[in-house]
Amino acid sequence: MGCEEKKRFKTKKMVEKFIYEFNKDPLIKEKLVSYWCQRHQVWHVSKESNKRPPKWFEILDRLKNIQK
Ligand SMILES: [Zn+2]
Repeated sequence: MGCEEKKRFKTKKMVEKFIYEFNKDPLIKEKLVSYWCQRHQVWHVSKESNKRPPKWFEILDRLKNIQK
């Protein structure tokens, strides 16, 4: 939910490089943060203020995986 069209990064290094390049722009309003996606098994980036919702999505995904 919500992350189908997000950029996907296979390694933490790749996502951190992307975030670094993005965040060094002084004109951005909001910094990006990275988070691990259980569903896609990749890293996604998200706006800092959106960081909380993906966290509970991750917990839901984890619960679904346990039930399988
Ligand atoms: Zn995802």
